[in-house]
Amino acid sequence: MDKTAFLKELNETLKNKFDSNLKNAPSWQLHDAVSEAVMGLIDDNWDKSRKAHLASRRACYLSMEFLVGRAVYNNLLCLGIKDEVDAVLKENGRSLADMEDIQDAALGNGGLGRLAACFLDSAAAHDLPLDGYGIRYKYGLFRQTIEDGFQREYADDWQRYGDPWSRRCDTQAVNVVYSDMTVKAVPYDMPIIGFGTKNVGTLRLWQAEADDEFDFTAFNDGRYEEAVKAKTAAENISKVLYPNDNFDEGKVLRLRQEYFFSAASLADITNKHKAKFGTLDNLYEYVTIQLNDTHPVISILELMRILVDLNGYEFEKAFEITRKTFNYTNHTVMQEALEKWSTKLVEKLLPRVFKFALMINERFYCEMYKLGKDKKFIKELAPVDGGQLKMANLAVYASSYTNGVAQIHTEILKADTLKGWYELYPERFQNKTNGITQRRWLALCNEELSALITRLLGSDAWVKDLSQLKALEKYADDDKVIDEFISIKQLKKQQLADYIFAHDGIKIDPNTIFDTQIKRLHEYKRQLLNAFSILYIYFGLKDGSIKDFTPTTFIFGAKSAPGYRRAKAIIKLINEIARVVENDPATKDLIKVVFVSNYNVSYAEKLVAGSDVSEQISTAGTEASGTGNMKLMLNGTVTLGTYDGANIEIAEEAGEENNYIFGARVEDLEKIMPEYDPRKLAFENDRINRVINVLINGLVTDGGVPSDEEGSFEELYKALTDGASWHVPDHYYLLGDLEDYVATKLRVNKDFTDKKAFARKCWLNMCNAGKFSSDRTIKDYAENIWKISPVTV
Ligand SMILES: *Cc1c(COP(=O)(O)O)cnc(C)c1O
Repeated sequence: MDKTAFLKELNETLKNKFDSNLKNAPSWQLHDAVSEAVMGLIDDNWDKSRKAHLASRRACYLSMEFLVGRAVYNNLLCLGIKDEVDAVLKENGRSLADMEDIQDAALGNGGLGRLAACFLDSAAAHDLPLDGYGIRYKYGLFRQTIEDGFQREYADDWQRYGDPWSRRCDTQAVNVVYSDMTVKAVPYDMPIIGFGTKNVGTLRLWQAEADDEFDFTAFNDGRYEEAVKAKTAAENISKVLYPNDNFDEGKVLRLRQEYFFSAASLADITNKHKAKFGTLDNLYEYVTIQLNDTHPVISILELMRILVDLNGYEFEKAFEITRKTFNYTNHTVMQEALEKWSTKLVEKLLPRVFKFALMINERFYCEMYKLGKDKKFIKELAPVDGGQLKMANLAVYASSYTNGVAQIHTEILKADTLKGWYELYPERFQNKTNGITQRRWLALCNEELSALITRLLGSDAWVKDLSQLKALEKYADDDKVIDEFISIKQLKKQQLADYIFAHDGIKIDPNTIFDTQIKRLHEYKRQLLNAFSILYIYFGLKDGSIKDFTPTTFIFGAKSAPGYRRAKAIIKLINEIARVVENDPATKDLIKVVFVSNYNVSYAEKLVAGSDVSEQISTAGTEASGTGNMKLMLNGTVTLGTYDGANIEIAEEAGEENNYIFGARVEDLEKIMPEYDPRKLAFENDRINRVINVLINGLVTDGGVPSDEEGSFEELYKALTDGASWHVPDHYYLLGDLEDYVATKLRVNKDFTDKKAFARKCWLNMCNAGKFSSDRTIKDYAENIWKISPVTV
């Protein structure tokens, strides 16, 4: 990098754009100027990469969410100029640290959106022609505060200070047509900078705007109000990210969003293909489209419409092209998360598109009758049934490959969720265990550990080949290395403690165990089980049944969907427990509970680097994969977890003896649940009973009882003991797993006292995290689903 030129560029941008300078520019202006300068540096390679991607067979990743986080540090890291830029800034009285307050782009809810971001990073680093397509939400996932122990939500105006990492491409805007309106989709492209290569991928995010044509005529005709209304209606489509994680709400605006980015992306993809070949006959030879969950599955119908209506293809030929173009990733087996649209709604909003759902459904029926399938089988798999459009059924039927995201998850799909489909088309099913990028989740967030790894390995090649960490296993018995590892962990815990204090005003002691559960708040993820275990230990310490307890800080970070009453009650409960243990002289030096606010990618970067224990305690069979588990493992933590999702593969890679696995397994639960009586279990077990009684005995308060319904803690209690209209009592088996969980937690607590032995386990987890690089995942997709090869730029 030419430091002088870079500095000149910075000064010019600050002067011309903001009339400021390096000395006095606020951090957002500094960020803007640095970003502009970097965009200038990559412009040429980005352009060449775009051309190279288009010239070869490429993959398009369609995702409703891309949880990219903060771009600036990662982009500098990937370009290999982070230290140089920091030096330039420091020579001028500033530093990269000034940009800590730059907001994340939180265009996703959690794991699914973060996975999409990791995939783009990995593909870019390995020169794979993969480009992302999504929505440029004006407001990303809400900003969370904790007030009096309750979650409060505020709009996330992430573009308030501009968006220097995007380029608007007006010339490539396309129209998206609904029955009641036409909107313009304007692409904003974000560069995805490959680490240590010239390749730059593209994340194309569509923004909804009013059609100028309409505006113009309406204004001219004096229909001013109508024009303004139309403008608002159009802009509303990309206004806000739905804050539900793993939950299907079935709202019409959501359907509009799904069709919006699907139709825009398909128009873009087919326009470009036709411009090159003059035909769509060979579309699937040059383009493969990955559907990230069912959210973009309407794309299948849209491609049919493009082929049949706009290009004159016969239905059968169009179906063949479509099926060969798409692939589908399933992310969940939970019924409430599986998308089903009311056919009435789809037909009303997208009448022509809906016709293709019916035609595909007819084709499906014909095919099944020919195969002699029975009525029940066919009904279960039909894309259209009972007044609903079932997106997963449509996805498997009209695509080439369907994949799950961890071994156990794929097995459950085959044996249960998509059983009929697996029977029909076993060759369509693959597993692709999720991964994370080691660029952001180690090189960037843990420079100290990264430096140690690079020194021991003699190079930083691990940044692009994480399997190399395996070679560090031999240092597990090297006292000097383990001591250094321990002191790095201590430093990261201190940094995290400082950050939590600055961010949330809570003091924690880095000499305690940092036991961390960070993920969306969900009943299936069982933050409530963690809370119960803390209460269990609290009572045990007080009555003397638990002794020699190593002081522990239990850290939680989680956002609840704003309308998810139980999840919000759990947040309040955790904060109430924090208050109780804090105010009790018997426990205040032994237990500390912290609920950090606004958990997001940037907070995650600090939390994963500064933890000792990774809580991954979902009910077996419910968490498809998890990726938070991988981030913590990579930074050298032990997993305290169930046999679920990728936890199983983590224990397999790092050794069960180096992790803490507990609880009922999928096959156990199949036998247990039909007979399970949690109320009886609590009745017979005082230790469990006194824990759940906290929900109703007044030790903690949920802040008052709404007039027309019971209090939210009482509702949690009832869900456990009586169940609800939609589920059996304690359907996530909290009480059944509680004692095994506590016993295992106490084992971690005791093992921690042997610092060396514990650090050795942590070290071995890090050494064996190679499999969980998204580089591995993306190469598997490239080879076995997409059939794409690296390009040269
Ligand atoms: C990785 C990540 C997640 C996913 O965490 P899980 O534990 O796999 O659910 C969610 N949110 C953020 C901000 C993340 O970085």
